[in-house]
Amino acid sequence: MEYKLTFKQYSEALKQDKLMGLKCRACGSLTVPPKMVCRNCASPELEIAELGGGGKIRTFTTVYVAAEGRESEIPYIVVMVELDEGPWLMGNLEGIDPKQAGMELIGRKVKMGHKVFAGDKYSAGEAARPLFKLVG
Ligand SMILES: [Zn+2]
Repeated sequence: MEYKLTFKQYSEALKQDKLMGLKCRACGSLTVPPKMVCRNCASPELEIAELGGGGKIRTFTTVYVAAEGRESEIPYIVVMVELDEGPWLMGNLEGIDPKQAGMELIGRKVKMGHKVFAGDKYSAGEAARPLFKLVG
């Protein structure tokens, strides 16, 4: 089996604020971030699809304890966003003071941008990750 969309390709697209996923030819579900098979039916019959990057916050957490080498980033908010197309995607949230973040964030609309994280001892090098911004 091969990756239709590699993590590197996914990361490169994110650097241009493009969210690339995989659409299943068998069931129509979208899978993002990329995997080898459909997250819904495990079919390997996938094609690359671009998603809009909009969605709603479903849950979040505020991180106060950083991984080694990431101490300068805390505190920060990690959100789980239900994308308009259906899949849930994890990313950071910007534009709000993490110390003020409360339950009112649940259900808020967001739009995806990106942030490039430098490589550290746990990763294979720099990579872009979703960075969400509140809208409306
Ligand atoms: Zn499927």
